[in-house]
Amino acid sequence: MDLGIKGKKALVTASSKGLGLGCARALAEAGVELVMNARGEEALEAEAKRIREDFGVTVTTVPCDVTTEEGQHKVLQAAGDVDILVTNAGGPPPGLWSDWEREDFIKALDSNMLTPIALMKALLPGMCERRWGRVVNITSQSVKAPIPALGLSNSARAGLTGYVAGTARQVAEFGVTINNLLPGIHDTDRAVSLDSGVAQREHISMEEARTRREATIPVRRYGQKEEFGATCAFLCSKHAGFIVAQNVLCDGGATNATI
Ligand code: NAP
Repeated sequence: MDLGIKGKKALVTASSKGLGLGCARALAEAGVELVMNARGEEALEAEAKRIREDFGVTVTTVPCDVTTEEGQHKVLQAAGDVDILVTNAGGPPPGLWSDWEREDFIKALDSNMLTPIALMKALLPGMCERRWGRVVNITSQSVKAPIPALGLSNSARAGLTGYVAGTARQVAEFGVTINNLLPGIHDTDRAVSLDSGVAQREHISMEEARTRREATIPVRRYGQKEEFGATCAFLCSKHAGFIVAQNVLCDGGATNATI
């Protein structure tokens, strides 16, 4: 399918690995020029080079921490008038509801709520003016059904989801859509680090931790970043103009809900 976005420009934050990289590659495959970001320069440059070679699109790299004001300023300077924004950042650490203090919540809110809001606030006016835009926020299945060990994620992402629900309906008349993409367990470094937490807590091997988590997913496997990226690219496509303020689960059926 021709996604109809060849020649458009996208900012994809936190995109040197995992789900962000999956989204960047799928957009590049559709002919979109990219601005990519991550803190670690080496992996970022290596993946940007691979994308240029594989898809022949222009890729600008911005190595910085996107959850800081300085980092946001840098990515926004490089992004200029982008047509597509995909927001992503690292997820908060796991723990117990009784572990976290105010500072832990502020950090999680900065990463997973206030950073995407700051980027949208900066880029939505230009998209509205140009009468076309797409925003996809990478959140989590924890928005639909809380994950007990990820209370910081449950809280911060719920806040972003509320902001998007209201804002998306205010910019839709200008041809700008905002949606959230909710990953379930995917085969990325983040999943390995969560598996390792389970292995340590329950005194089992990494393989056993993975097998147990796979058994909780109806498709009985972890998701792949390529399938997640393809879903993101579709939401950014010309065909998705009537999809507004949705929370789209990519979780292999793990969230046990009727709607
Ligand atoms: P990942 O494999 O660990 O990749 C994270 C990417 O983000 C890396 O490129 C990393 O590069 C970059 N990054 C992290 N913090 C950053 C920051 N402050 N500024 C700029 N770049 C940053 O993670 P993932 O599995 O793709 O997860 C992406 C998001 O989806 C996370 O918020 C995660 O909580 C959420 N999620 C993931 C899953 C899953 O199963 N994978 C499930 C639900 C939700 P640097 O480290 O070099 O900065």
